Amino acid sequence: MPEHPHSYAFSIRHHWWFDSGLTGLYYIAAQVKGDNPKYDTVTFHEDASGLTFTGTDQEVLKEFLNDCYEHLAFKYWNVSTKKQKEDKDLVRLDVHTGKIELIAKRNPAPIPSLFTGARSWRAEGIAYKDLPVDKKEEVDLFLKEHKRNLWGKEQLLVYEAPVCHQQIELFPVKGKKSVCSVCGQTAVCSEVSLPSFLLFASQSATHSFNSEGKKPDKICWECEFLGKFAVEAAHYKSSDENLYILQIHTGNVEK
Ligand SMILES: [Zn+2]
Repeated sequence: MPEHPHSYAFSIRHHWWFDSGLTGLYYIAAQVKGDNPKYDTVTFHEDASGLTFTGTDQEVLKEFLNDCYEHLAFKYWNVSTKKQKEDKDLVRLDVHTGKIELIAKRNPAPIPSLFTGARSWRAEGIAYKDLPVDKKEEVDLFLKEHKRNLWGKEQLLVYEAPVCHQQIELFPVKGKKSVCSVCGQTAVCSEVSLPSFLLFASQSATHSFNSEGKKPDKICWECEFLGKFAVEAAHYKSSDENLYILQIHTGNVEK
C-alpha cells in the first residue's frame, strides 16, 4: 500500500432495495478481487455506515468497480438459458477467424428481466446492407442452410452476442447536479427512466426520502449502480406468474 491510498465510500441508503445492493456489491467485489491478482491492493469493508473501498488511486477503484458491474452483468443480464445454448439461434461473424457461426441468444435472469426491455439490447456488428457482395452471398447461403435470420431490425451480423445491461458512467463529472431522489445527495444525476426500476424504487423513493428532492425523478450514479447489485443479494424463484423475492438480511446493512 502506498502512503496515501484512495478511499471511496458508498453510504447506507436506508432503503431495502439499495441496501441489498450494498450487500450484493460486497459479494461481487469479493469474487472479482479473488479472480484478479491486479486487484490485490484493493480492499473493502462493510460497516454500519456503508461499504468503503480503498485502492492506490481513484482510477484503480473506478476500474475495479467497473469490473464488478461487468461481472454482475455477465452473471445476470447477459446470460443464456440451457435451451438457448442448445438452440444456438444467433448468427455471428467471428472477427478473428472470419467465420460465420451459430451461438446462443441471451435472456436476462428473472429479476433483471423486469428492468430489461427490447430496446435494452445492443450489439456490435455489421448490417447486412453494408456487407461486401461476396460476404452477402456467404451470409445468404449460411442463413438458408441453417434456417436462421440476422439480428434485429437492422439485420446485423453481430460479432458477439448482444448485451442488455444498462451502461452506467462511474464517477461522472459532466452534467448538471441535482438532488438524488433516493439518497438525497447532490450529485450528477440521471432521470429515473426504466419503468421496471419504478417497480422497486419509486414508491418508497417518492414517499420517504428527503424533502429536498422535490422532483423525485432523479437518481445519482451511486444509487443507480447499487440498485443493480441487489439482484446478487436477492434469492428468488419464479413460478408461472409470480416472482417471489426474499432478501438476505445482514446485521450491517439492516436499517
Ligand atoms: Zn443517490
